[in-house]
Amino acid sequence: MPQRHPETSTTDRLVIVGNGMAGHRLVEALLARPERPAITVIGAETAPAYNRILLSPLLAGEMERDALTLRSAEWYAEQGIELILGERVESIDRTSRRLTTDAGRELSYDRLVLATGSTPARPPVPGLELPGVHVFRDLHDADALARAAEAGRNAVVIGGGLLGLEAAEGLRKRGMQVSLLQREDRLMNRQLDLTAARLLESELRGRGLDIHTDAQLERLEANAEGQVCAALLADGTRLAADCVVVAIGIVPQAELGRVAELEVNRGIVVDEWLTTNDPAIHALGECCEHRGNLYGLVEPIWRQVEVLADKLCRANAERASAERAESAQGYVEKPTATKLKVSGISLYAFGPTEPEPEHEVLSYRDPQQGDYRRLLLRDGRLEGAVLYGDTASGPWYFEQALAGRDLSDCRAALLLGAADAQALLDDASNESPQRPAKEAA
Ligand SMILES: Cc1cc2nc3c(=O)[nH]c(=O)nc-3n(C[C@H](O)[C@H](O)[C@H](O)COP(=O)(O)OP(=O)(O)OC[C@H]3O[C@@H](n4cnc5c(N)ncnc54)[C@H](O)[C@@H]3O)c2cc1C
Repeated sequence: MPQRHPETSTTDRLVIVGNGMAGHRLVEALLARPERPAITVIGAETAPAYNRILLSPLLAGEMERDALTLRSAEWYAEQGIELILGERVESIDRTSRRLTTDAGRELSYDRLVLATGSTPARPPVPGLELPGVHVFRDLHDADALARAAEAGRNAVVIGGGLLGLEAAEGLRKRGMQVSLLQREDRLMNRQLDLTAARLLESELRGRGLDIHTDAQLERLEANAEGQVCAALLADGTRLAADCVVVAIGIVPQAELGRVAELEVNRGIVVDEWLTTNDPAIHALGECCEHRGNLYGLVEPIWRQVEVLADKLCRANAERASAERAESAQGYVEKPTATKLKVSGISLYAFGPTEPEPEHEVLSYRDPQQGDYRRLLLRDGRLEGAVLYGDTASGPWYFEQALAGRDLSDCRAALLLGAADAQALLDDASNESPQRPAKEAA
């Protein structure tokens, strides 16, 4: 029986380009609102939206493929949403508000959302085009890596950030001998201080990863069949490699923005309403750039989705004046915390990796338990934390930092963790009813 969708206005068609994590989340957010436009979603991948984050446990053999699916194609149909998969939008005619896919399909839109994500960055190194060189971005990449690991030989992973580490551990767990190349002096140099990075390195070495920091990759070499067979470093080290994974970072997929002559810097430039310089076109997720910021983690993207969903529903219902309080100021940049998804290793970090002269540094280390905590405070307020081992208090620290709370009253217990520190804070506020006023000032 055909479903009725009385809440859908057929006069306003929203087209979302990209059925990835941002595009799909936007669909869910629109469905949760009372009025929404008619929606068409076009995705270049053949599979309906899946949880990209879980590609790492999938590669490591810790998860089944089906567990990644966010919603099936049938679910989209049941919601009255047109879902077109396996087609890439190639051009946008802003004057007629029409777009064209690589299959020659033409669609009109009233509002358009670009949620095209990013592509893996590639270092300018000879040999990168060789067969056997992979990236780690989508389901096809995860499949290809799993197949490469079936041969069970040597892999080289280029990049010692979150993605490189997760790829390296995944391949190691599938039986490969893995060398990991990190250009900087430490792993996860954007998140960790040297102590935490060394703890992480020694844990991973203990598991069998061959880690090279300060490594300068010079070129990749091919065997007689033209397949990649080795990575050569500037110091003369030669690492055997039947499989190479490039994981040095991401580049916003902003090509559609350029083709449509929207304002594009590194990403498609948007304002705090996720709107481009064309009021009918929005962008969100890893393809967009807001006040010079780019995105590589989902947390800020989820906040972008809420702002854009509100905006799109308001526009559709012509309720522009009834702005919801939480999104009245649009999208605002906030710090993000990082976790590593390697089983058996707990890491939680946010804020600067190195202290500034005005920072007070509190640190704690328990070599027996393998725990390390380092907090950076400025005027009693938390600005950064690196936790290795016991990370249970990480979210509490992050919450305090976001709230900008003065933690002077619990300084003595801060390193002991959330429960002790919060108890001291509670005691102090019970003793001194004036405290909140002082904090607010
Ligand atoms: C292995 C891995 C592990 C990760 N782990 C974490 C983690 O632990 N925590 C975290 O916060 N983040 C993690 N991330 C990052 C997170 O997945 C991304 O931030 C998120 O997916 C970005 O969402 P997006 O929609 O902007 O991009 P994507 O999810 O990449 O979606 C973009 C989609 O648009 C499609 N597309 C592109 N161009 C077109 C076009 N012209 N026409 C039609 N479709 C198009 C693409 O094919 C893709 O499906 C991880 C990423 C990877 C790859």
